[in-house]
Amino acid sequence: MKVAKFGGSSVASAKMLEKVAGIIQADSDRRVIVVSAPGKRYSDDTKVTDLLINLCNAYVNGESYEKEIDLVIERFKDITDELGLPEQILHEIRKDIQSVIHSDYENELKKDAFKAVGEDSLAKLLSVYLQSLGMDASYLNPKEAGIIVSDEPGSAQILDESFDHLYKLHDRKDIVVIPGFFGFTKEGKLMTFPRGGSDITGSIVAAGVKADLYENFTDVDSVYCVNPTIVDNPREITSLTYKEMRELSYAGFSVFHDEALIPAFKASIPVCIKNTHNPDGLGTMIVSEKHMTPNPVVGIASDKGFLSLYVSKYLMNRELGFGRRLLNILEDEDISFEHTPSGIDDMSVIMRESQFPKEKEERVIRRIKEELDADMVSIDRGLALVMIVGEGMHSTVGLAQKATEAFAEANVNLEMINQGSSEVAMMFGIKESGLEASVRALYKAFFKGQ
Ligand code: ASP
Repeated sequence: MKVAKFGGSSVASAKMLEKVAGIIQADSDRRVIVVSAPGKRYSDDTKVTDLLINLCNAYVNGESYEKEIDLVIERFKDITDELGLPEQILHEIRKDIQSVIHSDYENELKKDAFKAVGEDSLAKLLSVYLQSLGMDASYLNPKEAGIIVSDEPGSAQILDESFDHLYKLHDRKDIVVIPGFFGFTKEGKLMTFPRGGSDITGSIVAAGVKADLYENFTDVDSVYCVNPTIVDNPREITSLTYKEMRELSYAGFSVFHDEALIPAFKASIPVCIKNTHNPDGLGTMIVSEKHMTPNPVVGIASDKGFLSLYVSKYLMNRELGFGRRLLNILEDEDISFEHTPSGIDDMSVIMRESQFPKEKEERVIRRIKEELDADMVSIDRGLALVMIVGEGMHSTVGLAQKATEAFAEANVNLEMINQGSSEVAMMFGIKESGLEASVRALYKAFFKGQ
């Protein structure tokens, strides 16, 4: 049995849904289908989820929101018209939107309920379409499926009991269509996963039903070893491990949500990333273990938008609890950090810039100086992280040399180097302006001529 998840671009138009139906029809093992909301049809199109967020914002700000509702309905109307589906579907969507508007949820919960309308409506629409083609398909709401999540609006996490509920789907003979991106708390409140979270639903469902394979359909043939907008025609990765994928998707590989791997990994369900435009292509397999290739590096990931908070204090190494107290201040200020490379008398804390808005800077710096008696505190924004990733890097000699030579060749200064003892990834902090040149130089060093 396979769980197939179709992402936003795969369900963006009637044409794409025809392809989706063909893919489902082509393999009778594809019995559980998870869908995103319609995404972009062309580069400056707007995703349905973003249209729903605009609608929510207009509502919350007390502005008129009729136009925003119409924009959402129009997206679905384009699809139902072209597929010849009943208008009733559109009335239902309008009714669902109205019931969110008139619900007595507070704003945060309302926002999640608005956002969920996109996947929910598409799942209903797709099940009607599959029925119209003679398939035995039905829509299943995440609440009935038993997807139980934590009470964290916009960033819910799955609760373990969900997996047993979901196993009941294993024996169903029909095709079940489940909307991605949201679940319900034990108290029955709707919560969404973080953005891009339909991948997470797919992975949870695949783990719950103990699928033989989780297929994640997107719009690329496979995962590339480096960002294809930086390097032309980069090499495709045919197979990689969960750990490698997790590291790569953390830093810029947007093909698969980084939180989506954990459920599949824990249940040992292989994941295959496939292209809806080319479903017979091999795609990229993500598995627990793979044969090691001669090249220990599988990919180069890179992402912008980080900052470094630098703190120095003479004899820091002898001060018990300094690191904890520094991180306590950040916790207190609701700032989440990513890495903490440190020296004898100094410590840097690397975080996403979005975590540390400029308004907080003055206060946080003052607190660190006063409460920790630090000698110097500074913030350096505009940092990029570049990572080379590969399980085969473990105990391979000379990789850091090869990588640092590539940075030197690109004439880029290294602000930070970090490698955990698992040796799955080596991370470099550089100025954002040097990112493209470094990635190209690293690609040349690790992949050209291999
Ligand atoms: N529709 C949601 C988003 O745009 C979730 C998803 O597509 O995975 O973030």
